[in-house]
Amino acid sequence: MLQIPAYVPGRPPTVRPGMTTYKLSSNENPYPPLPGVIAAAHAAVETMNRYPDAGSMMLYDTLAQRLGVPADHLALGTGSVSLIYQLIGAFCDPGDEVVFAWRSFEAYPIAVTAADARAVTVPLTADARHDLDAMARAVTDRTRVVLLCTPNNPTGPALTHTELAEFLDAVPPHVVVVVDEAYLEFVRMPDAVDGLAVYRERPNVVLFRTFSKAYGLAGFRVGYAVAPAPIAAALRAVALPFGVNAVAQAAAVASLEAEKELLERVDALVEERDRVGAALRDLGWDIPDAQGNFVWFPLGDRVADFARSAEERGIVVRPLGDGVRVTVGEPEANDRLLQLAADLVR
Ligand SMILES: *Cc1c(COP(=O)(O)O)cnc(C)c1O
Repeated sequence: MLQIPAYVPGRPPTVRPGMTTYKLSSNENPYPPLPGVIAAAHAAVETMNRYPDAGSMMLYDTLAQRLGVPADHLALGTGSVSLIYQLIGAFCDPGDEVVFAWRSFEAYPIAVTAADARAVTVPLTADARHDLDAMARAVTDRTRVVLLCTPNNPTGPALTHTELAEFLDAVPPHVVVVVDEAYLEFVRMPDAVDGLAVYRERPNVVLFRTFSKAYGLAGFRVGYAVAPAPIAAALRAVALPFGVNAVAQAAAVASLEAEKELLERVDALVEERDRVGAALRDLGWDIPDAQGNFVWFPLGDRVADFARSAEERGIVVRPLGDGVRVTVGEPEANDRLLQLAADLVR
């Protein structure tokens, strides 16, 4: 039996009588689903006696059109977490190496261990960014996959297009490089990664995207990969048959049709994120650049204190090692975070 580390999900808030509580521990979208998306999901429920369309034709076609890529360059998964498992399972034999930054997404070491592959972790820089030079040096002839997380969950900074291109120039073409863009829609920075341009130029690059964050469908489990045909085919080949259910497919298609409205919500969340970030820096907190829908507090031995104080104020945050990740949520929840941050800094 392999020793697979457990995935620890973000906790829901403890119910506190007389106090609204907020879950800021899982990077979820705080907005409720749009009525049109709910209607599409309801309609799909009517046929639950049938298997879903195994080919997910509508969703593949809608995505292919939207992205301007051939449908056979796409692979759907039950959340992009599933695609991470599929990719490592498909490309790694026991003992093969997977390089990724640490700290980064919790699911990476789990997926690597589950495949009996070897995790080669490269520490983040002092400002919580990927150390791409060190990551390139960590690649050996046993390396099959590199996982890049941009923006990096849980710390926040994103890669630039230039540094990603330089990294890809330095990595041998037999290595599959995953660009995990779960928070793509929240990025606002100069020289941001243009994932589709990178995928078009490089036969070893895979983009992972999800409907869970910006599109607010975390509960339905839909993500997708954009990759050259052979890699996309490998991902589809090892996928669980009928994994993405009919309701999820319908909701994802409806979400792409309602993209304009959903991206306006993302704009509002980005505004909140930047408001929170600026206020924290004004208070004297030294936090890394936040390009996702969350902020990172490097706290060292104050992690447990911070999490407990947050809990007392009705917000649940996510302690991860030597820091705490807090999702940008409703303005009221964000205000409570700022109050807490003000009290703790004093
Ligand atoms: C949330 C997240 C995902 C995707 O999650 P799914 O809900 O499985 O689509 C992937 N990568 C990172 C870094 C994430 O934070």
